[in-house]
Amino acid sequence: MSPEKLVRPEILALAAYQVPDAQGMVKLDAMENPYPLPPALRRELAEALSRVDLNRYPEPTGRRVRELGNGSDDLIQIITLAVARPGTTMMYPAPTFVMYGVNAALCGMKAVAVPLREDFSFDADAFIARMKSEPPAVVFIAYPNNPTGVLYPEEDVLRVIRAAEGLVVLDEAYHAFAGKTFMQRLGEHPNLVVLRTLSKLGLAGIRLGYLAGRPQWIEQFNKVRQAYNVNVLTQAAALFVLERLEVLEEQAARIRAERAALGAALAGLPGVTVFPSQANFFLVRVPQAERTYESLKGQGVLVKNLHPGLRNCLRITVGTPDENRILLTALQEAL
Ligand code: PMP
Repeated sequence: MSPEKLVRPEILALAAYQVPDAQGMVKLDAMENPYPLPPALRRELAEALSRVDLNRYPEPTGRRVRELGNGSDDLIQIITLAVARPGTTMMYPAPTFVMYGVNAALCGMKAVAVPLREDFSFDADAFIARMKSEPPAVVFIAYPNNPTGVLYPEEDVLRVIRAAEGLVVLDEAYHAFAGKTFMQRLGEHPNLVVLRTLSKLGLAGIRLGYLAGRPQWIEQFNKVRQAYNVNVLTQAAALFVLERLEVLEEQAARIRAERAALGAALAGLPGVTVFPSQANFFLVRVPQAERTYESLKGQGVLVKNLHPGLRNCLRITVGTPDENRILLTALQEAL
């Protein structure tokens, strides 16, 4: 019996998410915070985790932290599963985070990717026109967007929220680097939910995301969520670090400062186009992305090659000052 005969065609058509081996590399491919926790805090954290009862199931509602998911990936899947009535549509500006489309496919929804403009700015008129002709059950907007780094004008996002007949999910994964949020507007818009993650803030390894929205939405999503989706070590580590949030906020400020320096340096390289970013990475266009990517890799620097979706574009995470220097030297060599 072959899986091809049983597995749903939309899943057969997908490829599993690929993560390249990063052993020994300067790792600038995945928008991680490059700074570890300070050594004293790491020891305190170890002590806190040693007190966790690993023999017990996790506290299932995330009551002590918030409405929780195992990374925001988990929450994207929960939302999609909840709204995926047969024949319904998910809509998003594109290019964007690939997991929206993947989850649409997994849940049997039709995915409509509405193209951004050539410079990756958001064409709200085109998007709203498309929403009118093909009303989506759910709209996903990454704010700022991945992989472009662009933060759409607040007014454009508001127009989409007001025009939408379905749910609008504002994915604020890169919030710490943009400083803009729709959190305080949740009360005004019953069809809005906001997603956040601790991943980009420095805790990618613990897999914790959260969702804020009306209790009526949370009630439904909670039926889809696996009861124990967030494990005890993650909950304990998150509580520990959130009580010392200033450490992560200070790291985010350093990354924002480094972003300015790295952006200017990248823009100064011949043949490189840098798109303005409000996130912790840059989308850059180079003459030959595949060759540049391979050359960087050969020099020990891992970035993200966005081929085939975005021709001749690489996505480079902002690293530490040392990492960024290594990248810039390697990139000069690669070009
Ligand atoms: N949303 C966006 C826009 C992202 O770029 C990412 C990660 N690349 C995620 C969500 C998922 O993050 P996590 O599952 O680590 O919370």
